[in-house]
Amino acid sequence: MGISLRPHHGMCFQFYEGKGYNADFTDHMGKIIKMLSDDPSQPVTLTAAGDAVCANCPNLHSGVCADQDKVGRYDAAALSLCGLTAGETIPYGDFIAVIKEKILDKGLRKQICGDCCWNGICKRKE
Ligand code: SF4
Ligand code: SF4
Repeated sequence: MGISLRPHHGMCFQFYEGKGYNADFTDHMGKIIKMLSDDPSQPVTLTAAGDAVCANCPNLHSGVCADQDKVGRYDAAALSLCGLTAGETIPYGDFIAVIKEKILDKGLRKQICGDCCWNGICKRKE
């Protein structure tokens, strides 16, 4: 079992530029991305619930995201397009690569999370 990650965070990570809900959240998210990027062979376990990133998010209440319906939709779509399943453990590098190949490179990101409050940032970097 590796560090837990919501599937849609595999998209967020590839656009991340240090912005987020507050300094605690961005410091934590930046550290997770660096730690995983430094050794992409590390295993990650895909979860459709609060993950390692959510742990420091002000929107997580009692382990549940305040926008769970919305982000649950993002997670389900990301899993489906990538042929992955919740609970699966895979190397971080493979996870990022499949998200890039099956979603980002095909221009499908916006149809998954175009209604996210950070869409403007990610759209600019596509
Ligand atoms: S728009 Fe939101 S959910 Fe989509 S990749 Fe960007 S930050 Fe993540
Ligand atoms: S908004 Fe929700 S899914 Fe996104 S990091 Fe915060 S708790 Fe997690």
